Formats: sequence, structure tokens, C-alpha cells
Amino acid sequence: MKMISTRGMAPAVGASEAMAAGLAPDGGLYMPATLPRLAPDDFAGLARLPQIAERLLRPFFAGDPLETRLPAICREAFAVEPALRPLGAPGDYLLELFHGPTAAFKDYGAGFLAACLAALPARERPLTIVVATSGDTGAAVAAAFHERPGFRVLILYPDGRVSPRQAHQLGCFGGNVRALRVAGNFDDCQRLAKSMLSDTALRAEAPLSSANSISLGRLLPQMAYYAQASLAHWRANRRPLGFVVPTGNLGNALACVLVRHLGLPVGGIVLAGNANQVLAEFFAGGEFRPRPSIPTLANAMDVGAPNNFERLDWLYPDETELRRALRAESVDDLAIAATIRAVRSGTGEILCPHTATAAQVLQRLRARGEPGDWCVVATAHPAKFPDVVEPLVGAPVPLPPALAQMLARPSEAEPAAPDEEAMRALIRAW
Ligand SMILES: *Cc1c(COP(=O)(O)O)cnc(C)c1O
Repeated sequence: MKMISTRGMAPAVGASEAMAAGLAPDGGLYMPATLPRLAPDDFAGLARLPQIAERLLRPFFAGDPLETRLPAICREAFAVEPALRPLGAPGDYLLELFHGPTAAFKDYGAGFLAACLAALPARERPLTIVVATSGDTGAAVAAAFHERPGFRVLILYPDGRVSPRQAHQLGCFGGNVRALRVAGNFDDCQRLAKSMLSDTALRAEAPLSSANSISLGRLLPQMAYYAQASLAHWRANRRPLGFVVPTGNLGNALACVLVRHLGLPVGGIVLAGNANQVLAEFFAGGEFRPRPSIPTLANAMDVGAPNNFERLDWLYPDETELRRALRAESVDDLAIAATIRAVRSGTGEILCPHTATAAQVLQRLRARGEPGDWCVVATAHPAKFPDVVEPLVGAPVPLPPALAQMLARPSEAEPAAPDEEAMRALIRAW
């Protein structure tokens, strides 16, 4: 299947070419040229995530150099099963996507992208993945490419502005992963990364690529867990399952939208945001008005200009239809904190601050009499955010084993100035 740009001014390419490129040459984002129709019967006998992912993704890789490698790629990238569990009241569920190496859902997208790039023919020179991160993305990408021959990862993160545990994670890989703690904010890191990636002279000397949330190689695999959860629910109850998705750049939620487009039994979709209100305003009937982000307790969602909105806009050219297809709500820090406390005392579950935005939105839906079965998407393990979560629940949050192993390793990040020339020199000398 061909992938086309949302801006319509770039040649159509295959899936692996789109994944290797990141952004389309016209500045647009790649989308599948057509969306196949799939029904629950197409997945008969399939229940584990790697099998469902392979069946789901097969049409997108038809005719692609990676077509025959897809089963092996899926076995590798989807080895960790999510958990779909009841959450308190009947009809309420929790989908835990945080059982991977860095304890956030981004492990699925980063792992799939890495497995795909590694399955393509080897290059003469190593490919350097440049990633600017405010926390979770950098660790997931580093874990996915760590110790893969032919790849290097350069992480840029704002010094002092990620949680101590996130900083430790970013610096603990070593080997082919270098972590730079940049004297600046996240925008400085992003500006540096963009400047390196758009420098054709530099890229001719040292091949560079990105792995940010606009990459098709992260978007497509995220469909797999929505397909799996909605199919499991359909088989057990013959009812569709709605999803409330903690949302920042809209990558995770967009995968859910695509799964519903394919014809799988997904009910309503609600975007849960933090105090960065751009999506909530738009879906309430206002303009789409990107702006600088503000810091919140759900820091991986501190996004003022959701970069996958362009894909949503392309999928639903009619704004009225788009506003009918999705809803969005904003949850401020006070409500995040209150929800972590209330869910803990009501159900015993400990949620991360991102997941708490979705739990809060589901509470609001139910209070307004919303019927049907709904699933809160749990995007990270609460142990990644002990400074926020532990005082609220009044107890230490036990570390999952993968995270504990990572935190037991020594960690070191190199200091860096937010200086483009110094960064170019560093890449050239690596
Ligand atoms: C990245 C992230 C999000 C936001 O996901 P998007 O795809 O950017 O909308 C939510 N929660 C956690 C824990 C994250 O790391």
C-alpha cells in the first residue's frame, strides 16, 4: 500500500520509505492512501497482541520490502501484552500499556519503528536517531535502538526539567546512546533537533533520522492494542468499547480513530487533555489555536501545538464531522491530583498523572449519564512519577522490574549548550 502526504504535494511511497523519511518532503505527514475494511471475523482465532498486530498491519505493508518480515517484526515489537481490566463500576475498564521496558505506551511505537528500520538493508554508515524529549519519548526510543548495530541515538533533554527518575532513565543506556542535558527548555531541544535534521550538508556526512510522534512507524503499531482490546471486549460482550485517551500530540488517540475507521468495534473516543486546552477548545466549537505549552503534572502531555492534528484534519476535512467523531476535555492539575486520590481510595488502583486525566474525564461522562462500556487508557506506570503520585496516595509505589533494573544502572548525561554549531561538531566527531 502507498502512503501519501497530508499536504498532497509529495510522491506516494511505500510504508518502509515513509517510516525511514519521518516527515514527507512537502512538510506534510504520511497517511495510508486507503484504509482497508476489517471486521472481527478477520481476526477469528487470534487473541495475542503479535498475531492481531500482524493481521491488522498486513494490508499496510502489502508490496513493501518489509512485507515478508512483518511476522517477525510483530513478534519482536509486541512481545509485551497489555492488560485490559475492570476499573471500579460495571462497564468501566483500564487498558494498561505500560508493561514494556520504559513503562510507557511509547515502547510499542518506538519498538516497532526500531524493528522495522533494523530489518531494512544495512547502510554503510550508522544511522543516528536524533530525539528531543521532555521525558518519556527519549527513553522509549533509546531502549528500542540500544545495542542495535548500525544505529546510534542522540537524546536532547532540558536539564533540570524532567523528573529525576526520567533523567536517570535517559542517561543509563550508554553504548550507542548519548544523552545530552541541554541548558535550556524543551523548545530549545526541539529547535536543535530540527536544525540538525534539516541540515542536508550534515546529513550527507552523518545520516540522521528522527523518531518523534509524527513518524508513521510509531502511529501504525499503536493501532494494535486498540484492535486487541476492542476485539476482546466484543467477543465477551457483543458491545463496542469506547476509549478515553490521555492526549498530548494526538499520536496515541489517532491510532484509536484509525482502528474505528477500519471497522473494528470501537465506540466513542474522547481525548483527555491537561490544562493545555487547545483541543478542548476546538472540539467545543472554537478555533484550532496552537500556542506555547504550559507545564502541568501530566508533563508528557504539555503540548500547545498537537502535531498530529494535521492528520485528523486530513481524515475529516469537514469540521462539523470531525467534532461529531471525537470529543475532548481539559483537566487541570487540581483535578488530576484529586482523581489520583479518589481512584486510589475508591478502587485501590494507583494511576499516573496522565492516566488520571482520562479517569477524570470518564467520571465526568458518567456523571452526565453517559451509557455504554468505556476504557481509560493507562499510558504510563505511576512509579515513573513518584514525586507527584506518592504524596497523593500516601504510600510508596513499587517499581516494575524493568524500571527497577534501569534505575539500578549508573546514569550519566553530558552537559550541552543550546548551540547549533557545537551540536553539529559533536555529531561530526561521534
Ligand atoms: C507521550 C505521552 C502521552 C501523550 O501521547 P500523545 O501520543 O502525544 O498524545 C500521554 N501519556 C504519557 C505517559 C506519555 O508518555
